[in-house]
Amino acid sequence: MVRSLSILLVTISFAFAQKPIGLTVDASDAAQRIIHASLKIPVSPGPFTLEYPKWIPGEHGPTGPVADLASLRISAAGKTLAWRRDDVDMFAIHVDVPAGANELEVSLDYLSPAETTGFTSGASATTELAVVSWNQVLLYPQGQPSNSLQYRARLIVPSGWSFGTALPIERESGNTVDFAPASLTTLIDSPVLSGRHLRTIELSPGAMPAHYLHLAADSDAALNLSPETIAEYKQLVSETGALFGARHYRSYHFLVTLSDHVAHFGLEHHESSDDRTNEAAMTDEDARRFASGLLPHEFVHSWNGKYRRPAGLATPDYEQPMKGRLLWIYEGLTEYLGTILTPRSGLLNAEEYREGLAETAANLLDTPGRDWRPLEDTAVAAQVLYGSRDDWENVRRTVDFYPEGELLWLDADVMIRKLSQGKKSLDDFCKVFHGGKSGLPEVKPYELSDVVTALNSVQPYDWESFLRTRVDTIRTQPPMGGIVEGGWKLSYLEAIPSMLRIEEEERHWVILRYSLGLELNEDGVIRDVIRQSPADKAGMAPGAKLLAVNGRQYTAKVIHAAIQSGKGKTEPMELLVKDGEIYKTFRVDYHGGDRYPYLERDESKPDVLSEIIRPHAR
Ligand SMILES: [Zn+2]
Repeated sequence: MVRSLSILLVTISFAFAQKPIGLTVDASDAAQRIIHASLKIPVSPGPFTLEYPKWIPGEHGPTGPVADLASLRISAAGKTLAWRRDDVDMFAIHVDVPAGANELEVSLDYLSPAETTGFTSGASATTELAVVSWNQVLLYPQGQPSNSLQYRARLIVPSGWSFGTALPIERESGNTVDFAPASLTTLIDSPVLSGRHLRTIELSPGAMPAHYLHLAADSDAALNLSPETIAEYKQLVSETGALFGARHYRSYHFLVTLSDHVAHFGLEHHESSDDRTNEAAMTDEDARRFASGLLPHEFVHSWNGKYRRPAGLATPDYEQPMKGRLLWIYEGLTEYLGTILTPRSGLLNAEEYREGLAETAANLLDTPGRDWRPLEDTAVAAQVLYGSRDDWENVRRTVDFYPEGELLWLDADVMIRKLSQGKKSLDDFCKVFHGGKSGLPEVKPYELSDVVTALNSVQPYDWESFLRTRVDTIRTQPPMGGIVEGGWKLSYLEAIPSMLRIEEEERHWVILRYSLGLELNEDGVIRDVIRQSPADKAGMAPGAKLLAVNGRQYTAKVIHAAIQSGKGKTEPMELLVKDGEIYKTFRVDYHGGDRYPYLERDESKPDVLSEIIRPHAR
């Protein structure tokens, strides 16, 4: 409380002391994937350095797309000034402000990519819609905390397009929007979703704070949500109230982009989230299930990640490196809470939830990279692992603090419930740690010891050892305690579970990792080979292309038929593969039939898992 109050006072006094920086962003050419911007920056004569935002909150890495900053021109008092990029810091631009000048005029273009990989620096615009991330279209004076810099932003959207954002609006006229002055922190934390086909749905009508679902799509048809889907998102709002007991935003805005031609990801903000998924994700039942965890996860971040943030990630500007060591709390706990809110809200049923949990556990069990890399190292190395390749991912490990964080916090939840004989749960921890008094956005940084203290206030236990042994030591087994003590067992079936079938369809993959040890793209290219699996023992490599199975041209159907017909036999399966220009046949010794993970009820224990995922809000 003290920390946030002082930040607020600094912001207010600075706002009176200095004229805000003027920023005009012209997104009229968004459909051409080029966005124009201009700034008016109050300055004093002498050497001056501008920074392009580098470390983007929520992306946990130096992902600011500085290579796409173009057409940079700087002038003062009507004269063009020479600028010079720093030799070491590619994001810093030096300029000499001439005597007598008190304002810099800066103009720039942002070249928005068509490439759909990456996060906000990936594809963000189509002919029908665009997401404006302010960090991509501005510069800021070096050396000033983002809380103390005020910006007055104007946005021009293509004519006929509407928009949604959490950034408070001062006035609107035609396709020009003038926003109220805001700190650089709030501005960058408040992207704008705009589009030709845009629909806004209120999720908590009549209640304060308000919640909005803004949907922009490549077609009107994609905005045609069923009343059930709308009711489930309204329930999600109620369930977060029941879970956290307080809200730390003025209003909350889900900014949902429905397009097959933008990057797909979610990025959390304090008062909104930038949620980008398939065009059919709100209307087609399978696509809807596949994307059902996205909004719950990003919404949870308003509490866990934005309001409560690891001190190493609560940096004063966009230049200081972020430290990801506690991402297993920032992302891992969010993954757990988002995943249990999905069935609590009705977005998935209990069986679909358990199918997802079984897949998470099975994949972590199949990760030989566990025997060299502790979970914590995946968090520390997040900034390099987000962009790591699919091949040999099971040996390298990837951003495992998401799925393993889910298991770890389920383990903690079940442990609290067991120790307290069902009287307490992780929901109580969330009220202590993330709740408090509702009000304006603020950041309360924390260290691991604060989390341990809050856990102990709910249920005394040696939480420090509980967490440390699961996080910073090498453990070949993932934390399975939540599933096992929650009354369920990981088993394997021949029939593909519905959520895995949907995942195969939505990702265009063929998942054979639990049988042969292969993950394939639809066209037969091998995404990954699981180490120590039958395919690995046969010598197969990621990146090669599977052409034929037992002499017959490869399709998903053909390989499943071969797996089934080889069941219980001794003859190996012959896989013809093209690797570069070389054709080679691998003999894979596998006779166990199709094999997929699912959770089986263990009647010897109480069904804690079902208690966790039942609806909690009235
Ligand atoms: Zn997240």
